[in-house]
Amino acid sequence: MDLLNGTYSIQGIPALDIAKQFGTPLYVYDADKIGQQIKNLKNAFSGADVNVKYAAKALTNISILKLIRKNGAGIEVVSLQEAHIALKAGFTPTEIVFTPSGVDFSEIVEGVSLGLGINLDNLSVLQKFGEKYKNTYPCGIRLNPHIMAGGNLKISTGHSNSKFGISVQQIDLIKDIVKTHDVKIRGLHVHTGSEITETDVFLKMADVLFSVANDFPDLKFIDFGSGFKVAYKEGDKVTNVNDVGAQLTKIFNEFCQHYGRKLELWVEPGKYIVSESGTLLVQANVVKATPTVTFVGVNSGLNHLIRPMMYEAYHHIVNVSNPAAPEKVYTVVGYICETDTFGADRKLSEVREGDILALKNAGAYGFSMSSNYNSRPRPAEVMVINGQAKLIRERETLEDIMKRQIEIDV
Ligand SMILES: *Cc1c(COP(=O)(O)O)cnc(C)c1O
Repeated sequence: MDLLNGTYSIQGIPALDIAKQFGTPLYVYDADKIGQQIKNLKNAFSGADVNVKYAAKALTNISILKLIRKNGAGIEVVSLQEAHIALKAGFTPTEIVFTPSGVDFSEIVEGVSLGLGINLDNLSVLQKFGEKYKNTYPCGIRLNPHIMAGGNLKISTGHSNSKFGISVQQIDLIKDIVKTHDVKIRGLHVHTGSEITETDVFLKMADVLFSVANDFPDLKFIDFGSGFKVAYKEGDKVTNVNDVGAQLTKIFNEFCQHYGRKLELWVEPGKYIVSESGTLLVQANVVKATPTVTFVGVNSGLNHLIRPMMYEAYHHIVNVSNPAAPEKVYTVVGYICETDTFGADRKLSEVREGDILALKNAGAYGFSMSSNYNSRPRPAEVMVINGQAKLIRERETLEDIMKRQIEIDV
């Protein structure tokens, strides 16, 4: 969403028109931006046989998944439910990689029966997998490289105390199981967390993987996970994907020569692909000037976008109804009955009750982490594609919220 000729718009459609047509709160996604981000990554890694697996948990709407497939990406899922949505969206089982954490073995068995690619992240699971499938179903292994990286502890997944992956220090135990049951290891995987801005971290991860990869002769791919950070505000540090791509493909190709065979290089971005495509449009219900702070209370809250409260994430906010007015300082808050701040001390062009505000970069972990807290329905979702705004999810109703509740005599 950009300010063009004084009007905030998406592919030339004014955000205000979209808000009027579909109501607020509303998630709006720009299909062009998603296509562009996939293209950027493919270009950045074009030095190798790159396979982009979109991490579906960032934004899981079926129409978004269809769009992502059309743009030539595969998909990474962390639950069978995400796998089923991906299948409905047209992904073939082999385009899907399932990387569950801590699930019951029956889910892995179902993943196998669906024909998904599977990355295992636990020794006991690998053991069961080996006993059941032996050499009949090649799988990948998620390793924990013992590297501390990522924007904050909640999204760091590759350090030594993280629940994710099998420790690289347990590589001999992995090899024992693989040998005993003749398991075919087709891929090695790491995902050290979200929001990694130093190229060096990716290179260090690669070194860890390369140092163990020679022990697995049946590899098809090495999966470097994600961690690609985008800018949430001006001047934000971001992952330089061109730099990571150039340096990683270089050492990857050198490794492949050493390994004796060309392998596929996989990456699994979620945030990088969909974050900037998304905007959450809300309405300013009330403006409340106290002696110290002027609050803007909007018709949304942490039930719709939890990132500010959960991760202290910054989402840029603009007043799309009144862009030319002089700026004032506001604290933008939600309507949930607990502290529920979208942005403190923000400069916004003067806000009047009824104005439409836009929270930017809301495509990733926005709708997908939303809830019905306070018994509020979740927003509708709209995709702007080929210059047209199309509804891709209906707004929830009270009926949806009551659907599974059972009223008994008390
Ligand atoms: C969440 C996740 C990703 C995507 O992370 P982003 O920071 O959104 O790019 C990739 N791989 C795995 C295994 C994940 O769990």
